[in-house]
This record gives sequence, C-alpha cells and structure tokens, in this order.
Amino acid sequence: MTFRSPLITVLGHVDHGKTSLLDKIRKTTVNEREPGRMTQHIGASYIPAEVIKKLSKEFLEQFKITVTIPGLLAIDTPGHEAFINLRKRGGSIADLAVLVIDLRDGIRPQTREAVSILKQFKVPFIIALNKVDLIPGWKSYPDKSITSAYNNQKELARNEIDMKVYDLMSAFHEFGFEVDLFFNIEDFTKKIAMIPCSAKTGEGIPEILALLIGLSQKFLEKRLVIDSNSPAKGSVIEVKEEKGLGKTLDVVIYDGVLRTGDTIVIAGLEHPIVTKIKAMLVPEQLAEIREKSNFRNVKEVYAASGVKISAQNIDEVISGMPIVSVWDETKLEEVKKEIQKEVEEVIVETSSEGILLKADSLGSLEAIIGLMKRKNIQVRKAKIGDITKKDIDDAIAMKATNKNLGVIFAFNIKISEEVEKLAEANKIKIISSNIIYRILEEYEEWQNQSIEREKLEEFEKLSVPAMFRIIPGFVFHQSSPAVCGIEILSGTLKSGIELMKLDGTEIGKLVGLEDNGEKIESAVKGSKVAASIRGAVIGRNLKENDELITIMNSDNFRKLKNFKEKLTEDDIELLKKIAEIKRKKDSLWGY
Ligand code: GDP
Repeated sequence: MTFRSPLITVLGHVDHGKTSLLDKIRKTTVNEREPGRMTQHIGASYIPAEVIKKLSKEFLEQFKITVTIPGLLAIDTPGHEAFINLRKRGGSIADLAVLVIDLRDGIRPQTREAVSILKQFKVPFIIALNKVDLIPGWKSYPDKSITSAYNNQKELARNEIDMKVYDLMSAFHEFGFEVDLFFNIEDFTKKIAMIPCSAKTGEGIPEILALLIGLSQKFLEKRLVIDSNSPAKGSVIEVKEEKGLGKTLDVVIYDGVLRTGDTIVIAGLEHPIVTKIKAMLVPEQLAEIREKSNFRNVKEVYAASGVKISAQNIDEVISGMPIVSVWDETKLEEVKKEIQKEVEEVIVETSSEGILLKADSLGSLEAIIGLMKRKNIQVRKAKIGDITKKDIDDAIAMKATNKNLGVIFAFNIKISEEVEKLAEANKIKIISSNIIYRILEEYEEWQNQSIEREKLEEFEKLSVPAMFRIIPGFVFHQSSPAVCGIEILSGTLKSGIELMKLDGTEIGKLVGLEDNGEKIESAVKGSKVAASIRGAVIGRNLKENDELITIMNSDNFRKLKNFKEKLTEDDIELLKKIAEIKRKKDSLWGY
C-alpha cells in the first residue's frame, strides 16, 4: 500500500496569523531540510516526514506515533477563498485543516465562517491558538514544545490561557463541537484539539506537526491510500499568466500519477475542456517558493503534488474546477460526461422564487449555497461568472413578486459600470464582497432596513391624530373655505384630514395650512398657523375658541396600534379621545 501526504490548509479570521503560521512552519522545516533532497511544489509546501520526526521527536514518542506517511503537503495560500477552490464532489481535497485563532481575540466572524465551511465540506481540523507570546506574563521558549513552555509559565500567564481556553470551549460547544487542549484529550474522535502556539517564537509548532501526522494516520488512512499507477485526479487551484508560458494551471493532484503528454479533462462552465499536457513545472529553487519565477520541467508527478501545467486550449479554465487525466482514450467521453456532471450538480437553475447568486468558482458557489441553505435563504439561480443584463432582468422579475428578492449576491466577481447603473436605475441591490459572511450579513441588514422602510412607508400613509383651537380675532374668511388662525393643542396636524368637534359633529375637511403666508403640509403641537377648512362656516357650525379634533376611520385607528413606538403620549391620549367620541355612536368602533 502506498500512502500519499495529506493536504493541509490553514483557515481563520483575518490577522489571526494564518500567513505567519504557515511561514513559520515553512522556515522551521526548511532549516531542517537537506538541500537537494526535497521535492518542490507549486502552490503548496512539502514538509517531509523526516523533518517532522526530528522536530517533533519528543511529542511523537510521548503519543506513540510511528510516522508512516511521506510527510505533509501544506497549501501555500491560506484563507477561505483558496480553500474553496480545493473542492471535490461531496467534500474537499484538503484532508485536514488548521483553524487559526488569535488567543486574545477569540472567535470572530471569519472564524465562524471557517467552521461552517469546514463542516459543510466535511474537513476535520485542529485549532492553533496563536499569539501565545502576547499573553501577559508569557515567557518565551522559542521553537520549543508548547507543553513544556506552558508548564514553565508563571500562574498569571497559565491562568490567562486557561480562561481564554474555557471561553473557546463554550463557544465551540454552541457550534456543536467539543474542543479541548490537546494534552487533555484522550479520544481524538470525540474532541477537537487546541494547540496554543506562536507563529513568532515557534512554540507549539512541533505539536501541531505531530498532531497533523497522528490524526492523518489514525483517521484518514483510507483517504491517503493511493494507486500510484492510475490516472491523476486533482483540482485547479489557480489559473495564472506566466511570462513566456502564457496561461498556466496550478493544480493540486490528490490521487494517481500525472505525466507529460497525458490527455487531461477539466470541467468547464458550459462543456468540459480536453487537452494534452505540454509541460509540467515545479519551482527551480528551494526556500521561498512564492517568490519563484523560474521553473524546472518534470516528466511525472505523484499524488499528493502541486504542479504547474502548460497546455493548449486552456483559456477558458477557471479555478476550482476538477481535473483528471485519461489514459484510455475509449473512456474519454465517459470521463467528460462524469466530470461535467460535477459542475451541473453545484449550479442552480430554477424557476422558483429566490435570490440570484453569481460567483467566481465552483467551490465558492457551493460554499455560499451551503451557507444560504443553513440560513433558509432560497436560491433561484447560482452560476459562475460576472453579472449580466439578463441577471438584472431576472432580479427585476423577482422583485415584482417579492421586494426582498430584488437583490443579487456577487462573490469575488467584477461588476461592470453598465450593470451597476442598470441595477441602480431599477433599484436592484447588488451585494458584492470577497468575504462570504459579509454578503450574508449585508443581506440581513438590507432586509431589516427594507422591513423598516416598508413599515415607515405604511405609517406615513396613515392619518395621525391632532387637536387644535380656533384663535379668537383671527378669522380671515368665514366660509368656502373658512380661513382662520389656529393653535395646535396636541399631535401633528396634516393637511387633507377630516375634522369634527369634541361632541362628534363632523365639520369638514382641512384643505390647506399656511405659516406666515407659506403653504405647509403639517403643523406640530404649539404652532400657530392659518387653516383653510372646507365645510366650516364660522359663526354657524364653528366659532372662535372652538376645539376641533381629527377624524380617522376604524381601520386607520387599528393600524396605528402597530406603531406604538412612533406615537407620543399625547398622540395616544388623542386616540383615546377619538375612540371615545366615535364609540358613542358605534360601540364596536376601532376593535
Ligand atoms: P493572517 O491575516 O491571518 O494571515 O495574519 P498574519 O499572518 O498576516 O498576521 C497578522 C499580524 O499578526 C502580523 O503583524 C503578524 O506579524 C502578527 N502575528 C501573527 N502571528 C503572531 C504571533 O504568534 N505572535 C505575535 N506576536 N504576532 C503574530
């Protein structure tokens, strides 16, 4: 049986130290390597078992781990975006993940997102509790085992860590995970291990490496058995333009063997892409892989590997797509069909109500759909690519059926000015981000705001109560309409409302309000303005000093009860008065 190296990814909230941790692991292990013996990879760093055996000797012995796998292959780019390009049907090609949490900062939005993505893609993980060196009172023991560093701390630092660990244990419990410090765990199938560490001083790195080895061997054995004499399976992690080579594909192979000249099939947006490998490249030098510009040709690579492929006809390839090699040309059609089915399984194209989602890759699409489902957000269409005019039309149609659906989610894609303008003109909201949780968060905010807006619109349509008095000596016109000076005693008086006396006698309609000769729409308590009242005849049905109150219908009265937060105490008193007057004639009024 041949085992391959497990593929490891690093995830976590921004600034919690993902890049630093990867760099530290790379540097620590590069120092231990003997030049010339190492296989170089594209997009991933190989940490040979020999190195880990040396670095983590003490811990491997303590936990009785015999290393049987060739090493670890750590994906170079940390973060969720890179992770989701490692998708494969039903999961991820990443075998294990390291979730990095800044010990002082705890769980943050992207930590939460990482946990749900890992859960969705069914990737087991360990938790690196990073920046332990910044804990008050911490004494550093560079590059040493965290177990002995922890035991050698003063109580102050240990207590601080214990407190943070305790908080994390209860937070993870709420996500449905049991976590604990790794040295307290007896059964690693039941609890997720947390390893305090520092990407700066290196404490804990030996334990992280040893645990990754131990867990891979114990729980992922089946996944790691490869057939080194079978066609390759992999995933395109990046499509890159290279000087002198044109477009190239950075690919991670997780099964089989890939050879120059092999026919490869890559899933495409509309149809599979078939081509032959012209060249396979790996970095020329040791050390800092990401800064490489020179490549070395290789004839074959075995899983697990990161390799750059140069081939014709790859212009339309996008990252995150599955790639396989085909040795038996008679199977080509079958393989093409099978690989394209994977795309069709993720893409959503329905005619039902829901939101439109556009994303840059298959993995991101799948991840967002998963999170939307968890939040019970209906998906109408989910496709790869930029937003088109047709998408806007679709959203307009959706908006007509349900206001909350006049929205398009855009993940990591460009939005042309034309599309943006079209969306704006049609009041279609585009929520765009390259962080998944921001899209969902912004959607929730937008929804809440639109509920608020609708509520406000509804409230503004309702009549609000007001009471006023005719000021003596300010009658300008007696009738048709009567024009007189009034003082608002309570509430907000709005033009257009019907009026009655306090005994229920209906007087007429307020047809205009003026303040110092200027037309106004409303007047509030305390103001003195001029009112035009159609139906009133001063001296006959109305006289100076009379008090008038607004009329509203029973339905309006009932609806106002839903807006208690928008009504003042005065308004409520007035409403009671109106109801009292109305109920003299109709005892069920307003119920
Ligand atoms: P990322 O966004 O998760 O990749 O975070 P980075 O690796 O870029 O780290 C964010 C900042 O935290 C940088 O300034 C790092 O130098 C710092 N940092 C990361 N890990 C540690 C650590 O263990 N100790 C200390 N003191 N600083 C750290």
